[in-house]
Amino acid sequence: MIIVMKPHAPQAAVNRVTDLIQEKGLETHLSVGKEVTIIGVVGDKNRLAGENLRILPWVDKLVPITESYKLSNRKFHPEPTRVRVGNHEIGPDTLTIMAGPCAVETEEQLMTIAREVKKTGAQFVRGGAYKPRTSPYSFQGLEEEGLRYMAEAKKEYGLNTICEVISEKAIEAAAKYVDMLQIGARNMQNFQLLREAGRSGMPILLKRGLAATIDEWLNAAEYIIAEGNPNVVLCERGIRTYETATRNTLDLSAVPVIREKSHLPVIVDPSHATGVRAYVAPLAKAAVACGADGLMIEVHNDPEHALSDGPQSLTFDCFGQLMTDLQAYISLAGRKL
Ligand code: PEP
Ligand code: MN
Repeated sequence: MIIVMKPHAPQAAVNRVTDLIQEKGLETHLSVGKEVTIIGVVGDKNRLAGENLRILPWVDKLVPITESYKLSNRKFHPEPTRVRVGNHEIGPDTLTIMAGPCAVETEEQLMTIAREVKKTGAQFVRGGAYKPRTSPYSFQGLEEEGLRYMAEAKKEYGLNTICEVISEKAIEAAAKYVDMLQIGARNMQNFQLLREAGRSGMPILLKRGLAATIDEWLNAAEYIIAEGNPNVVLCERGIRTYETATRNTLDLSAVPVIREKSHLPVIVDPSHATGVRAYVAPLAKAAVACGADGLMIEVHNDPEHALSDGPQSLTFDCFGQLMTDLQAYISLAGRKL
């Protein structure tokens, strides 16, 4: 961190800042200009309540040099991370497709959809057993019964499985039945849940919060990795903006930004980003073209009767067409399914 003093700060004010830093065992390096003195701080800044320095007399501003996240930071881990789930690897060589219903509704519904997405080339079936719905009166999910159907789909079709978890209890249950856990947008800053997900040791898909900056998102990933679990995949799923034509605004620029700032894989969910079936395919192609490591797509056998997110769910025909059209994008990106 660098501390910039206001022009013509008296020596006593500079000393007060340097004393405070040195008291905490950190080093200071002064650069004294004609008007402005700059103080470089060297050492573990976690030992310093850095924020407090801002209010000392004559301090103009604090300029951080390194980001607060370290374990998810590409600067300290230049190689891209590959997250292994079963015999599949999520990372720079593959294009991971996670497809399935918003919610697991019945055994028959999930098995029908799982069979179709497997046939069409997806490596994962997704399906919510615990649904964090905006209204408490909307369908909340089948919970453990839904997880059991996911395990059946895995057994029957050899698919990897992913389910959202919303509590410690859900983590414990899901870890028995599925291969990967999802932390949804609404829980991205539920720090206790992030820690518990980290302690589970399971591969985690961390969705971006509805109003989270990329730095906040990477700090959330840091919570999981700090528990000793490096198996984190990020998922851009749209953020809140003033635009109302779509449910959220898909921030595709997050993909190259994440690739620069972090070594973690990043996938894109155009279904929750738009809320509109017709917009899912064009944005799925754009996501692959701009470097995403995978896609999460909602697919339903009967979207008109879906218990959640029917309007954005692809029919089997739409999903089949998308998977065919995606082939060219996938080979241009030098990846394989
Ligand atoms: C979901 O994937 O089912 C979901 C609820 O997504 P999000 O957390 O992105 O809204
Ligand atoms: Mn959904």
